[in-house]
Amino acid sequence: MPLTTPLTIEQLNAATPAEFVALLDGTYEHSPWIAERAAALRPFASLAGLKHALVSVVRDAGQGPQLALIRAHPELAGKAMVSKTLTAESTNEQGKAGLTDCTPEEFARLQQLNADYNARFGFPFILAVRGPRGLGLGRHEIIATFARRLGNPVDFEREECLRNIHRIAEIRLNDKFGVSPELGNRVWDWAEQLAQHSDPGYAERGELTVTYLTDAHRACAQQLARWMRQDCGFDEVSIDAVGNVVGVYHGQDRAAPRLLTGSHYDTVRNAGKYDGRLGILVPMAAVAELHRAGRRLPFGIEVVGFAEEEGQRYKATFLGSSALVGQFDPAWLDQVDADGVTMRAAMQHAGLCVDDIPALARDPARYLGFVEVHIEQGPVLAELDLPLGVVTSINGSVRFVGEVTGMASHAGTTPMNRRRDAALAVAELALFVERRAAAVPDVVGTVGIVEVPGGSINVVPGRCRFSLDIRATTDAARDACLHDVRTELAAICQRRGVAVVLDETMRASAAPSDPAWQARWERAVAALGLPVQCLPSGAGHDAMKLHERMPQAMLFVRGLNAGISHNPLESSTNEDIELAVHAFADVLEQLNTEPAA
Ligand SMILES: [Zn+2]
Repeated sequence: MPLTTPLTIEQLNAATPAEFVALLDGTYEHSPWIAERAAALRPFASLAGLKHALVSVVRDAGQGPQLALIRAHPELAGKAMVSKTLTAESTNEQGKAGLTDCTPEEFARLQQLNADYNARFGFPFILAVRGPRGLGLGRHEIIATFARRLGNPVDFEREECLRNIHRIAEIRLNDKFGVSPELGNRVWDWAEQLAQHSDPGYAERGELTVTYLTDAHRACAQQLARWMRQDCGFDEVSIDAVGNVVGVYHGQDRAAPRLLTGSHYDTVRNAGKYDGRLGILVPMAAVAELHRAGRRLPFGIEVVGFAEEEGQRYKATFLGSSALVGQFDPAWLDQVDADGVTMRAAMQHAGLCVDDIPALARDPARYLGFVEVHIEQGPVLAELDLPLGVVTSINGSVRFVGEVTGMASHAGTTPMNRRRDAALAVAELALFVERRAAAVPDVVGTVGIVEVPGGSINVVPGRCRFSLDIRATTDAARDACLHDVRTELAAICQRRGVAVVLDETMRASAAPSDPAWQARWERAVAALGLPVQCLPSGAGHDAMKLHERMPQAMLFVRGLNAGISHNPLESSTNEDIELAVHAFADVLEQLNTEPAA
């Protein structure tokens, strides 16, 4: 609790430059120049706007002042102390945060990491030790982060230090303003609790894996349903015939078209805690706020926790959202998992009635549209130091598996100009894909699998299997890239005297955001006092399925650790999540006040 009166944005906006600097004293370590320059950027619309202005000042200052800022911080390892009383009780205090209670081994490890870090980077290791929830990281986490970041490239690590400095400043500003992101905390805690459920084989290792209809998966569904009912005040909560959790918060008029929103609660193997789940929990927090205030909007809100998006247990993906658009393919029911269990059997075991699946298709006339909140799963927002971004389009994609056939021959006796090397043809293709995709903005191409079956150290590769994945913001850009790749592949094969077979395994159309819905997210972000950043989504999302039936638009939330995803390092702060809840609530208010169409 702050001892003095909390600071306000109005006070900062009205202050003289000198007062402004004094009021922000201590936000950035020994670096009043940041506040001095930010003073000229006033007025600020919000605390989020102020934080962003401070971040911009540091970014625009260039590398010299940035390094000086990093060096103004004391070494983290300097705070480490060996515990004086290494009793059984104190060593068992796993939850205890901070570095003041190290074992001698931990202390020695920290000192070594610190020495290695300084030798490699020449600046001190900076970590926001209060962490993404503000409660403090444990010694374990601190040491693991230290060790991991030691392997970063220098420029990347300098940026990572700056991001941590901004997080430290953010927490200090919250203290000065006497604010705490209660809604962000709530969602963060839900995500943490939901992550307690994990499939066997992963749970034991502390890894998060929740695949379709496992015990952990069904426990997640039950948990979400309970929160919706008991903590959030949804009027109707059910688990549907494919395992989707559906919560409805009625509007004043139960017959009025509803807003549809949600995302998936299944995960990839060894996943992060936010992919998909954020898009269920953020709307839940917004509904809980409406319920708490006893408010009913002119429209209902339907939040869906989609049972399956990631295609981990069965080959089919987007099972949950496919059912809502009437595209659940009955043939999927005969797919088998790694243990030979059919999807049909898994569904029966879970008490789901497959006969009811066709009835899950939603009538678009009963919905205003679909919105989805999702962690970005990429580095764009982290690099721009922005907590939120508005999605312009979900990339269209196409995938192939291929095989080049040349001639296996003796590596010692086959002259270089007589070879028909299948692997080199694929190598050439991969380099072309890289060059061609990079030549156009928002096109990406990947050769993710390159394999020489039965390859040998002394044999020129006679066969080479490969994969090809091309994605772009528009189908036209994707197809143009694919056309050039096919042409080049034919030329490579002709020149090298090899043959190729290319099989298309997947094709998805780009899903551009509906302009009116994208504009609502943009207004919501602007209303928070933040710059509006639009970006395409490189990954597929449930929204691309709903896109086939109704207008859709997505909001992205910045990820920590440079936006890494499908990885346990995927993370988000209570502060960024709080902003996402506010943005979602703002969209609700816009729909509330917009004249009916
Ligand atoms: Zn996802």
